[in-house]
Amino acid sequence: MLIERLSKAAAERAACALTRNRRTAHTACAPHQIVSDVSGEPRALLSFCSNDYLGLADHPAVITAFAEGACRYGAGSGASHLVNGHSLAHHELETELARWLAPHIPETQALYFCTGYMANLAVLSALGTADATLFCDKLNHASLIDGALLARATVKRYPHRDVGALAERLAANDSPLKLIVTDSVFSMDGDIAPLAELLALAEYHDAWIVVDDAHGFGVLGEHGRGVLEHLGLASERFIYIGTLGKAAGVAGAIVVAHRTIAEHLVNVARPYIYTTAAPPAAAHALLTSLALIAGEDGKQRRDHLTRLIGQLRTGLQTLRARHPEAGWRLADSGTPIQPLIVGGNEAALVLSDALETRGIRVTAIRPPTVPEGTARLRITLSAAHTTNDVARMLDSLSAIVAQRESA
Ligand code: PMP
Repeated sequence: MLIERLSKAAAERAACALTRNRRTAHTACAPHQIVSDVSGEPRALLSFCSNDYLGLADHPAVITAFAEGACRYGAGSGASHLVNGHSLAHHELETELARWLAPHIPETQALYFCTGYMANLAVLSALGTADATLFCDKLNHASLIDGALLARATVKRYPHRDVGALAERLAANDSPLKLIVTDSVFSMDGDIAPLAELLALAEYHDAWIVVDDAHGFGVLGEHGRGVLEHLGLASERFIYIGTLGKAAGVAGAIVVAHRTIAEHLVNVARPYIYTTAAPPAAAHALLTSLALIAGEDGKQRRDHLTRLIGQLRTGLQTLRARHPEAGWRLADSGTPIQPLIVGGNEAALVLSDALETRGIRVTAIRPPTVPEGTARLRITLSAAHTTNDVARMLDSLSAIVAQRESA
């Protein structure tokens, strides 16, 4: 019975071009990878869909630090943080991140989580008590949506980046605890939340801001400190979440907040308490990632990334202007997330497959990850890409449109 039900659901998904399949990477996360699908032989692909924005996942110094961490602390942590699993490597990473990310805010503490997904569940479920209200941007990441579902708080959603609509909802609400919840860089669109305006609202309405900087940490800001550095903002009202499996190239996430908030999470956040602590080697490797991000190497990588973003956008805009009939829309994004919005699910899959035939991999993103009718190729750039890689992607897209025209 269960199998029949699920088979029916799978058939319905297939009919709407919504089946999801995994690919298997045989080599490290890098633009040039050996990848196989369920049926196929491994083959070389140039990929534009990782979140390894600075190319640190395959950086020799980070890999060496990971191995060194494993030699020093073993392969796994062996227990949850509150039982026996909290190691010196976790402690050092938390201390360093609190110092580096919020040097001007006294009483700040950082807490390392196994994943960003769990950090978001932890923050929202622990702070979102029954008398609280969460004000959530409609395009927030699934992990923030799920965290809000887990919380007992009332949840109000506001239209994407709509400060006026949020102001109205805040003014009409008399909860004793108000939390504004937002991605910093929206994961499927690449645009940035209006955090200066959100902070002004938070101050006026005595609210707090949970900001998920998964795609800003390491990438934005002169020193890579993320969205708050990029926008020149600092306030105790921010409960900051940065993930460390993307630009930092390893795994996990950090929550940076007032000491009392962090201690509260240690004591009551179930996704923190009831899980085995991440391998200390990951935390140890992250200390090297941080040094790279904050140093000259990180700056050069960010500068290179900025040039690649410009090259890709210019190329895509030219392509769009030449071929309006393709019906593609380029999202208004200045970050390494550069979605090419195609519309239909089938059309997005066909384009992704056509690129793959040419040796280029960009995943098609479809509902429910994005709203109905906005299926897209979520092109992401990494500092590990070269200008030749980007040129190859643009040439391939051009060739696909030209081929369609002549067909
Ligand atoms: N927040 C956002 C905005 C994300 O895009 C992601 C991952 N794609 C996460 C949180 C979850 O982070 P992690 O992969 O570390 O679980």
